[in-house]
Amino acid sequence: MMDSNHMNPKIPTVSPISTTLKRKRGPSISGDLPAGGKPALKQNKEEAVDAALEDLDELEEYDSSDAGSDSSGMIVIAQSQPQPTNATTASLILPSDQEALDLRARLRKIGPPAFEKECLETKKMDLRDLGTALGVPSEFVDIPDDQYLGFFRGIMLYITNKRQKLQHINTIDDAAKLLQTRNKILVITGAGISTSLGIPDFRSKDTGFYSSLRAMGMSEPEEVFDIYNFDENPQTFYSLAGEILPKDSKAYTPTHAFIRALQDQNRLQTNYTQNIDNLEGFAGITPDRLIQCHGSFATASCRKCAHQIPGEAIFADIRAKKVATCAECEKRIASEAAAAAAAPPALKTTTKQNKKKKHHKTHSFSYSSDSNPSSDEDDNIPTPGTMKPDITFFGEDLPNDFFTRFNDLDSATADLILVIGTSMQVAPVAKIPDKIAQAGRGDVPCVYIGREPCAHIEFDVQLIGDCDAVVWELARRAGWELRHEMVPEGGLELVVGKIEGGEGRGLWRVGRAG
Ligand SMILES: [Zn+2]
Repeated sequence: MMDSNHMNPKIPTVSPISTTLKRKRGPSISGDLPAGGKPALKQNKEEAVDAALEDLDELEEYDSSDAGSDSSGMIVIAQSQPQPTNATTASLILPSDQEALDLRARLRKIGPPAFEKECLETKKMDLRDLGTALGVPSEFVDIPDDQYLGFFRGIMLYITNKRQKLQHINTIDDAAKLLQTRNKILVITGAGISTSLGIPDFRSKDTGFYSSLRAMGMSEPEEVFDIYNFDENPQTFYSLAGEILPKDSKAYTPTHAFIRALQDQNRLQTNYTQNIDNLEGFAGITPDRLIQCHGSFATASCRKCAHQIPGEAIFADIRAKKVATCAECEKRIASEAAAAAAAPPALKTTTKQNKKKKHHKTHSFSYSSDSNPSSDEDDNIPTPGTMKPDITFFGEDLPNDFFTRFNDLDSATADLILVIGTSMQVAPVAKIPDKIAQAGRGDVPCVYIGREPCAHIEFDVQLIGDCDAVVWELARRAGWELRHEMVPEGGLELVVGKIEGGEGRGLWRVGRAG
C-alpha cells in the first residue's frame, strides 16, 4: 500500500491548456515547456465551481471517451443517481488529516460504489462531511444535494484514478539510484529537451511558437494545427510551418544524449516524445524504442487519397509558404481527363492553381492569409488533395503505435518513468503516469525533470532546472558520465537544493553554481 501523507484536500487542478484541447477533441502536436507552472488560485466561488466542473468533465471524458458533449461529468453523474436522504446543509465537521487519510485509503481499497454505500448507508455519515474529507471544496457545502453528490462522486473517481506519490522516494539520490537499478525505463519527453538548440517550443510564454502567433494577431494559435482548419484553408498552416520545420543540422542536445546513453546501457524501454523535431532520431534512438506521439515531418500524406511521400519532398513548398498538392491525385485527374477527352473538350486540371478551397464555415481566429477563396470555384472540377506533414493535428488520432506500445508493453512492464521537458498538459501522453497506476502498478516510480514544478501529477521526485544540466547531474550521481559537445570539459558545477514549500512533493532545484 502507498498511503500518502500528501493529504491536501482541494479540488483537483486541471490546466487551462487541456481544456482547450478537450474542446478541440484531439491530441496536439505540441511539445511543451512549463509555461508559468502553478495553477492560478481560484479567485471566487464561481471560478472554483467552473474549475471543478471542468475537472469533472475531464474525468467523464477520460472514462467514457465520449466526445462532443458540453455537459459536465458532474451533471451526468448526478442525473443518473438518486439523491441521498441523509444529506443536510452546512453541518460541516472538518475531519482530521489522519481521518481524511484513512478515508481515502479505504476508498482506494474498496472502490467508489462500495465506499459510498458503506459510508452513507451503513455508517450514516454526513455526505458533506465526507465530501470535505475527500477534498470537495468547503465553499460547495451549500449547493443542492444532487449537485453535491455529483462533486462527491467526481472526487471519488479522481482519487481512485490518480497516481499517488511514493513516500520512500524523495531525493535526487533516490532518483539516481533508480537510474542505476531499473532497466525498463520509460522516458516521456517534450519540447523542453530541444530548446537548448534554439528550437522554439510551443507554449513558452514569450518565446514559444504560439506566443509569436499571438503577436501576429492570432487569438487562438493552436488552431493552426487544427485538422478542420487545415482542410478548410491549408494556406494558414503553410504560411507558418516554415518556422517549425526540422533544421538541416543533425545536432541534438545533452538530454537526447542522456536518453541515448540509457539505450546503450539497455535500460531504455520506450521513449515517448511529443516533439516533432526528430532529434531523437539524430541522437540514435532506434525506431523500435521511439514513439513519436505527435508524428513527425519525416513523411507527408495526401488528405484526399492518403498517398504518402517523404516529408522532405514538401519542405521547399513549406519554406516558400506554398500549399503542396498531391502528385498522385494530379496524375489520376490527368488520366481521367485524358480518357474523357475523346468526347467533349475536357477541363484541364493539372495545375496547382486549380486547387479548390471550400469554405463552409468561418474561421474563428483573426489571422488572415493571402489566399482568399476564389468565388469562381466549381465543385465539379476535380482537384488534387493537399499534402499534410504527418504531424498529429488537433482533432486527429495519435499514431496507432502509441496505444499498441503502451497497452501491450509499457503499462505492464515499465519499471521507472522519467518525464523530461514537458509540462504534461496534453493528453493522452500526460495520462501515462496515472494510467500505469490504474493498471495496478502504482509502485512504479515517477521522476520529473523540468523548468517549473508540475502540480497536477504526483511525482515522487521533481528536479527543477535546465534539463541538460539536471540529467547530467543525475547521471553523475548514478555513477556515469554524460558526454556531449555542449557539456564543458570537466563537467558542470551545479548546486542542488530543496525548494521551499516543496515538502512532501520531492521538489529539488538543480542550478548552476555561482
Ligand atoms: Zn492524393
